[in-house]
Amino acid sequence: MTFTTKAQVTTGRPVLPDPRPLTAPEYFHVLAKPTGPICNLDCRYCFFLSKEALYPGDRFRMEDDLLDTYMSQLFESQGSSPEVTIAWQGGEPTLMGVDFFSRAVEVAGRYRRPGQTVNHTMQTNGTLLTDQWCELLAQHDFLVGISIDGPAAMHDRYRVDKRGGPTFDKVAHGLGLLKKHAVEFNILCTVNAANQDHPLDVYRYFRDELAARHIQFIPIVERENDTGFQHGDRVTDRSVDAEAWGLFMIAVFDEWVRRDVGTVFVPYFDAALASWLGVQPSMCILNETCGNGVALGHNGDLYSCDHFVEPEYLLGNVRETHMLELVASPQQRAFGDDKSDGLPQYCRSCEVRFACNGECPKNRFVCTPSGEPGLNYLCAGYKSFFTHINGSMRIMVDLLRRGSFADEIISILASAGRNDPCPCGNGLKAKRCHQR
Ligand code: SF4
Ligand code: SF4
Repeated sequence: MTFTTKAQVTTGRPVLPDPRPLTAPEYFHVLAKPTGPICNLDCRYCFFLSKEALYPGDRFRMEDDLLDTYMSQLFESQGSSPEVTIAWQGGEPTLMGVDFFSRAVEVAGRYRRPGQTVNHTMQTNGTLLTDQWCELLAQHDFLVGISIDGPAAMHDRYRVDKRGGPTFDKVAHGLGLLKKHAVEFNILCTVNAANQDHPLDVYRYFRDELAARHIQFIPIVERENDTGFQHGDRVTDRSVDAEAWGLFMIAVFDEWVRRDVGTVFVPYFDAALASWLGVQPSMCILNETCGNGVALGHNGDLYSCDHFVEPEYLLGNVRETHMLELVASPQQRAFGDDKSDGLPQYCRSCEVRFACNGECPKNRFVCTPSGEPGLNYLCAGYKSFFTHINGSMRIMVDLLRRGSFADEIISILASAGRNDPCPCGNGLKAKRCHQR
């Protein structure tokens, strides 16, 4: 999944699809993990820490020659594209140190074509950031995704250090440094058992206390098993409840659509707007097919997706085979097509399928009411969320088709008489709906 591309900066306008067809393997997104799964924290729900077992005895550090190979292949594969995005993630990428990232920027500069813009992005837990780090990040216009699950009590429930201690204060310090150095940042918030019932506390905290303008929510669906892979049909008690996920997103959406369209960017909402407009959304999980977002390990191993770093989904190693070839391989194309091919009949006849598309295959491990396997664990939540936002989406689509801006919906919703039907069409009086 891609969460930190600058192209996603919200304007209230839809995110338009890249003109290159998604089946073209030369256009893809790479999440590079220079420390593999190694992290200085021990977040209870992290799906990636267990990947350490895939490489016993490894140092888990990307070597400089591999950095060079990766960059050269990435720039080759992006051809004459005007923008190239370099995305670092983990584990915790800052464990590589400032010098590694200085070299990465320098190597990227060597392979960059004239006129090409390089977007540097990094996802971090923020606890190791220093002034020196932020100077580098600011100097090269990094967009930094920082992981925070809400105010301290909610954040510290699962985001703990290696001794089980709280991490909120360190993250807040890191975020303060990013702001001090004017580094562009976005918030990545997981929705889990600890914060699922507090959507407005969480959202308003990010918007009002942290002055965040880009907020991504990720539902925690953590399978209960000993492998750390996508096996089994039970989830841990840290996982978000399916219906609570829908209610969380509905509450945040209603707050956003009443006052924040055009000023706060929530990828789910822009992706939904794209779907209502009939164009490809910017989130792989809501697309009909996937397979264009691969994960690069610290040693050059390339996997089908960040969520499928498992032996079965290993495509090869970029030291031996060009990543373009690996992404174009029948194995990877089949992986991407399976998202659509494996959709149960229940989804195929679902009224909100055009927006949901069965969400991510990693979450498809429950049965439909008729017993067909392959339904998404979060189905109930998505169904209620997409159904709920239908009226507002139609208003925004209408505005955009008339050449207006989507944020005009704010005044439309506010202009109805309090006892009149809410313009969103949900059938409630305005005072009980979007003027509540
Ligand atoms: S499996 Fe597909 S939809 Fe899910 S995160 Fe990976 S690329 Fe996206
Ligand atoms: S809402 Fe449920 S039934 Fe509809 S497409 Fe999504 S997962 Fe399938």
